[in-house]
Amino acid sequence: MTKAEPAVAPAARRPGSQLDELQLRGVSRAYGAHTALQPLELTVRGGEFVALLGPSGCGKTTALNCLAGLLPLTSGEILLDGKRIDTLPPEKRGFGMVFQNYALFPHLTVRANIAFGLKMRGVSRSETARRVEDVLRLVHLTEQAHKHPGRLSGGQQQRVAIARAIVMEPPLVLMDEPLSNLDAALRLEMRSEIRRIHQEFGLTTLYVTHDQEEALSLADRLVVLREGRVSQIGTPAELYEHPADAHVAAFMGYRNLLPLRVVSADADGALAEGRGIRLRGTPVGELDPHAGQSVTVAVRPEDLRIAEEGEEGVAEAVAEIVEYHGRVQHVEAVTRDGHRLHLKTGRHVRPGDPLSVAVDPERALFFPDLGQPAEEVTP
Ligand code: ATP
Repeated sequence: MTKAEPAVAPAARRPGSQLDELQLRGVSRAYGAHTALQPLELTVRGGEFVALLGPSGCGKTTALNCLAGLLPLTSGEILLDGKRIDTLPPEKRGFGMVFQNYALFPHLTVRANIAFGLKMRGVSRSETARRVEDVLRLVHLTEQAHKHPGRLSGGQQQRVAIARAIVMEPPLVLMDEPLSNLDAALRLEMRSEIRRIHQEFGLTTLYVTHDQEEALSLADRLVVLREGRVSQIGTPAELYEHPADAHVAAFMGYRNLLPLRVVSADADGALAEGRGIRLRGTPVGELDPHAGQSVTVAVRPEDLRIAEEGEEGVAEAVAEIVEYHGRVQHVEAVTRDGHRLHLKTGRHVRPGDPLSVAVDPERALFFPDLGQPAEEVTP
């Protein structure tokens, strides 16, 4: 093999992605009177990695199961390259599926587990052997191929589950929280493995997770769901930089969600205060702030900093909990009025230290009030 050749034999690669476009048009699902998934509009392009992200109960698994054909739709349609597939049973859709429980056959070797589906489909012995060996190489399991699943680590078992799905050369791979049974270190390792396999095999992948870090690091695009509705669809950078609402912001790591009241607003931004905090910030989206209005101001811990000498802070607080994270410390500080602030700082802080905290106005995003039965804000 020369250096210019890919690590995976071309035969193991999908001949491009067989899928050009998957369209979900108004796909919804109700359980009795409860609508778990409101009409969902989504187009997935061939080769894309799309993550469905949201808290428990937001409808992610329901959406995936509707796609897989495990659940009938209440309304809407699903088109694969223009052809309706939502009326087809799961096996006719031919999607690959990887779940958190690997569901491997314990009495079969790794090789036989991967070959199983091809055998069932009546693929010839020689073709099966070739495809299985190619996929084994791709998931780095050639050395383990003769073993039974019981002798493999969790990460290796998960790789067998992925191999078993992709050896069928499915137009779409559906993954439902595939890493949630792995420990933290293995999770990180498998995360990059999944991305590598997706790329090298030219897969189109739909991936369900409640873990924003996982979604941000894996996906080309994210669909953020909340209570069965899409909050926002976008690239990781779009969602991280421009969250559409305070819920998406919370999911994207804006840990400080401050319930404040607008004091004044002009073309340059708005000023709000409450709970011993007084700050200037940037209204987002449709928000047209006016004096007296309740808003939720979102600030990331890494954007909340200790004020420079002579700089006027946005709040005076006392450090309560200090966690050591190498170069930075994670600090929880409480304002005089009892509001808890989260900040990351490179400075050395000890519990009990008084802090004046600051934030640049473009880093404080003003959203409509979250509408929680929130604590009363008294400016
Ligand atoms: P999780 O991350 O906890 O799996 P999820 O985002 O995947 O959550 P779903 O499993 O899709 O959420 O569930 C969405 C909503 O539908 C929830 O309110 C759930 O209680 C409800 N639900 C799910 N399955 C059923 C069912 N078979 N019958 C009735 N309600 C259901």
